Amino acid sequence: MKVFEKIKDLQHLLNESRSKNVAIGFVPTMGALHQGHISLIKAARQSCDLVVCSIFVNPTQFNDVGDLSKYPRTIEKDKRMLIEEETDILFLPSVEEIYPKDIDTTNPYDFGKMAEIMEGAHRPGHFDGMAQVVARLLRIVEPHKIFMGQKDFQQQAIVRKMMELMKIDTELIRCPIIREPDGLAMSSRNVHLSPENRKLATIISQTLFEAKENAKTMTLKKVKALALEKLNHPDCSVDYFEIVDAYTITPISDFEDTSSAVICTTVQIGGIRLLDNIILFE
Ligand code: AMP
Repeated sequence: MKVFEKIKDLQHLLNESRSKNVAIGFVPTMGALHQGHISLIKAARQSCDLVVCSIFVNPTQFNDVGDLSKYPRTIEKDKRMLIEEETDILFLPSVEEIYPKDIDTTNPYDFGKMAEIMEGAHRPGHFDGMAQVVARLLRIVEPHKIFMGQKDFQQQAIVRKMMELMKIDTELIRCPIIREPDGLAMSSRNVHLSPENRKLATIISQTLFEAKENAKTMTLKKVKALALEKLNHPDCSVDYFEIVDAYTITPISDFEDTSSAVICTTVQIGGIRLLDNIILFE
C-alpha cells in the first residue's frame, strides 16, 4: 500500500492510472477503522481496479471541540487493516493540505431542508463541514466510484445531492450497515461506551428491527409511538427518531404517501451519540 500525504504526489499516481483506464474506487474515512469501514474497502476492491482510502479527521465538521479532540486515532492499526484488504493507496493529508490558506474551500452548496433536520438540527454546521471536505476530496481523487455507508444515511443522501450539484459523474455506492453480533451498528465512537452502556446500546437496533416488523401491519404513527415508548429508558436520551423519504430526507406522515421510507435515529447513551437507521422500503 502506498501512503501519500501530499495532494500532488497522490494526483501524479492517479493521473497515470487514469490514463491507463484504471477504475478508481474511493473510500473516505476519519480512521479508527472497524469492520464497517472494511466492508466499504471490500466493496471497492470488488468493483474497482485501484482502491484509494483516505483518513482525515475533518475539523470543520465537528461543532464541538471536545468531540474532535477525543475522536479515536489508531493510525498504525488502521494501516495494518487496510494492507490486509489489499488497499492500493492511503491518502493521509494534514489539515493544511486540505484547507490551504490561499484557496476558498467553503461549501457553496445549499442543500435546503434535507440538511436542516436530524443531524443537521443537532449538530449546527456539521453538514457544511462534511460537504466541504467531501467536495474537496472528490476534486482531488476524481474517483469513478465513491463508497459510503448506509450507517450515515443522511450524510450519503446529502453527498448524492451534492454530486448532482457539482455535475460530476462519480457514482455513489451505498453499502449496508455492518453490525456487532448483538445488533449494535459498528461505530468508531462505540469504544467510548462503558460496559453497562455498551449492553444497553442494543436497545437502539432492537427498536429499529421491531419497528420494521411493525411497519408491515401498523400505521406510521403507531410504529413511531411504540418505538419511542421502547426507547423511553432512564439512561437513553433520544435526539431524534424520524421516518423520512430515503432520497429527499423529508419526514413522512403516512407510509402510503411515499415510495421509500427509512427510520433514522440518534440516541445518546452515557453522553455518546449513537446513530442508526433502517430502511423500511424503497
Ligand atoms: P467515518 O470514519 O465515521 O467518517 O465513516 C467513514 C465511512 O464509513 C462512512 O461512509 C460511514 O457511513 C461508513 N461506516 C461507518 N460505520 C459503518 C458501519 N457500521 N457499516 C457500514 N459503513 C459504515
